Amino acid sequence: MTRDVRMRGFAERVDVEQVDRLLASGCLPLPAERVGLLDSVGRVLAEDVVARVNVPGFARSAMDGYAVRGEDTFGASEYTGLPLTVIGESYPGRAFGGSVGEAEAVRIMTGAPIPAGANAVVKAEVCEERGGQVWVREPVAPRKNIGAIGEDIRVGDPVLRKGRRIRPQDAGLLASIGCADISCVRQPRVRLVITGDELLAPGSTPSGFSIVDSNSVVLRALAARDGGVVLPYELLPDQPERIRDALLAGDADVVLVSGGSSVGAEDHAPRLLAEHGTLLFHGVSMRPSSPAGGGRIGKAWVFLLPGNPVSCLCAYEFFAGPTTRALGGRSRAWPHRRVRAVLARKLSSEVGRTDYVRVRFEDGRIAPLATAGASILSSTVRADGFVIVPRELEGMPEGAEVEVFLYDDEPRADAIGT
Ligand code: AMP
Ligand code: MG
Repeated sequence: MTRDVRMRGFAERVDVEQVDRLLASGCLPLPAERVGLLDSVGRVLAEDVVARVNVPGFARSAMDGYAVRGEDTFGASEYTGLPLTVIGESYPGRAFGGSVGEAEAVRIMTGAPIPAGANAVVKAEVCEERGGQVWVREPVAPRKNIGAIGEDIRVGDPVLRKGRRIRPQDAGLLASIGCADISCVRQPRVRLVITGDELLAPGSTPSGFSIVDSNSVVLRALAARDGGVVLPYELLPDQPERIRDALLAGDADVVLVSGGSSVGAEDHAPRLLAEHGTLLFHGVSMRPSSPAGGGRIGKAWVFLLPGNPVSCLCAYEFFAGPTTRALGGRSRAWPHRRVRAVLARKLSSEVGRTDYVRVRFEDGRIAPLATAGASILSSTVRADGFVIVPRELEGMPEGAEVEVFLYDDEPRADAIGT
């Protein structure tokens, strides 16, 4: 694998599925770390969470009304109000200190503790209070309108399982059972190694023969989407020593090398990876992104992403994305929303090659925009999503139903007719 392939081309290319299997087999979630409750949404639990308290921890009123002994209200009706003596009140956080006896009532608010002696709450709507007495016009059965201890969560309940990606309401529940922090899978640290003598930093105006680096802009967003934490980075010239130093920096779990991944004279990354680590694959039968590669240096997973912007995006999605997600304890599966749609035009491909085809909705059907054109980033901007044509297919005919991966998570505000 250490042979220098520069200017000689790829002898053979591996299949996307082979690479995927290789990556999947060697990739385990990173170790756990404690994460503060307020930062926990979106993080992946590293252990089961079991409740150590009851919620609620006390019997509480489910209504605004009067805490009573239910049996004292039997016989009450619209026409025959039964009078009870109001002996106090109970508010959330401010309990009534005494006890409710026969023919007595305590004014009570939703969420307030049920006073001793009471066993039901009669709702305010059927009561009328005047002169220290409340006239109850509807009977209430014992236990009615009372939230029992542990009705929400009981001590010992497994409330969230290991591997769970924490939702807003999950974090809320963690708060309610008294968690201050929880054990989560550490987020993978992602280093971008953006190479190319021709590159200007994002934000620059392209001039002369220089172009503005767009890959880092795309990659940092994709890595963040997949739960990665992007480390500070700089643009590097096509100098082997500089690229080697970046590869060996040793602070990342995932290294994304943009550019110089192929077999050109300035393509140093594959050789450097083979020399200082392991080049696990290089050259994939896919379109775009065929010059992609990857391997390991120390514990880090290194991905060689071709510089052409669509190739870079596509190689990230096929190889680096699943790895980043898996390291962070998430699913390797593509995170895109999927819909099934009918092809408006035939889609040609080649047996033995996996294609990443940008597609767009046209009158409710799906039209292929581009398979080739690895340098045409605008094809991904015009597209609503993409279709993956597996290697065993020669293409797909017009009218075929295909699975479309959507670029947008939510319906688009600018979409017509939605
Ligand atoms: P390379 O993979 O280095 O051979 O680059 C292939 C093509 O992608 C060349 O036209 C590069 O100028 C272009 N390219 C390389 N890096 C980037 C980048 N970071 N952003 C946008 N285009 C790039
Ligand atoms: Mg280059």
